[in-house]
Amino acid sequence: MDGDDPVGGEWNYDDQNRETPPEGWTPPEAPRFDPDETTREVIEFVRERYPDAWGSLEPFVWPVTREEARQALSHFVEVRLPEFGPYQDAMVDGEWALCHSLLSAAINLGLLHPREAVEAVEEAYEAGDAPLNSAEGFVRQVLGWREFVRHVYRRSMPELAAANQLDQTEPLPEAYWTGETDIRCLSEAVGHVRDRGYAHHIERLMVLSNFALVYGVEPAELDRWFHLGFVDAFHWVTTPNVVAMGSFATDVLSSKPYASSGNYVNKMSDYCSSCPYAVSKTTGENACPFNALYWDFLKENEERLRGTGRMGLMYSHVDRKDDEEWDAIRARADEIRRMGRAGTL
Ligand SMILES: Cc1cc2nc3c(=O)[nH]c(=O)nc-3n(C[C@H](O)[C@H](O)[C@H](O)COP(=O)(O)OP(=O)(O)OC[C@H]3O[C@@H](n4cnc5c(N)ncnc54)[C@H](O)[C@@H]3O)c2cc1C
Ligand code: SF4
Repeated sequence: MDGDDPVGGEWNYDDQNRETPPEGWTPPEAPRFDPDETTREVIEFVRERYPDAWGSLEPFVWPVTREEARQALSHFVEVRLPEFGPYQDAMVDGEWALCHSLLSAAINLGLLHPREAVEAVEEAYEAGDAPLNSAEGFVRQVLGWREFVRHVYRRSMPELAAANQLDQTEPLPEAYWTGETDIRCLSEAVGHVRDRGYAHHIERLMVLSNFALVYGVEPAELDRWFHLGFVDAFHWVTTPNVVAMGSFATDVLSSKPYASSGNYVNKMSDYCSSCPYAVSKTTGENACPFNALYWDFLKENEERLRGTGRMGLMYSHVDRKDDEEWDAIRARADEIRRMGRAGTL
């Protein structure tokens, strides 16, 4: 803040934070931490006890001590922060971390105080080492979103965990466990979770939970999957994010669902160009699964969603489709759900 006003005059700089990197851009390498004796013991324990568990234990990418967490914060501020803002929403084939801070697990475990992370970023901005859009974006994630999510949890439990206002009942497709699917964006995101227990925010929201939402997965089952898969999972933070934000199982966190067709993934990533599905097609063979599921989701939940704030534009598109289109959309959505249930997505 600059007195009573936001620094730079704006409350948020999201319009500068929706870029995708140019071709050939490579993100800075994520920090690695040499496992100390305790960590090596735990790695051995996990190897012996859970030989089939997901993940690569080496190289070890997560800070597990206070000292390592401080190193991780310094690395983020010095190396990744300048490009954190602009590429915050981007997804790049083969890249799991981009310029994200990778600090959530350290903060949730109490190895770093959230204020410490915010202050380090503020100082970098004041020293001229980071642009305002990156610094503001990060501060808002931690001081804004993280605290808000905590507040939602405190106010909405225990109902939150079992919420299911859209009455979604589909089981989670097998592909979430195996990562084996032709759906390129989904296999990449699940692969990231399987490898390191991490996927960045847009993969979590616009791929992993968006697909489950429009497909119709039961929110509590998706929540369980996120709990099992992620290094930063804690009930107080995972549950509001998955059940409320990702699944729109309650409106305590947002007034509309984060649902989108393949267009969003196509705009923010380079996945679609290497996917066997055609993002431009909604129905018929090889049509992007997100598309038919998305329209089918809007139609199925019309009663609940049409009057919801900010859904007007989406329903104006719904209103333009004729019966023939709806029949084809329903047929394609049913086909994808059948594939999901049969484990052949
Ligand atoms: C479906 C879904 C599930 C999620 N599950 C978790 C979870 O189990 N644990 C978890 O810590 N975060 C969760 N998040 C929030 C967010 O995606 C992660 O905090 C973030 O991706 C962690 O990576 P990072 O540290 O590189 O974050 P960055 O992208 O670098 O963001 C900086 C920091 O902001 C904070 N932050 C940003 N958004 C949120 C948010 N919505 N809720 C809480 N903190 C936020 C985190 O502390 C994060 O470290 C989830 C989001 C979604 C949509
Ligand atoms: S075409 Fe559809 S399924 Fe394939 S990567 Fe793009 S959004 Fe994902």
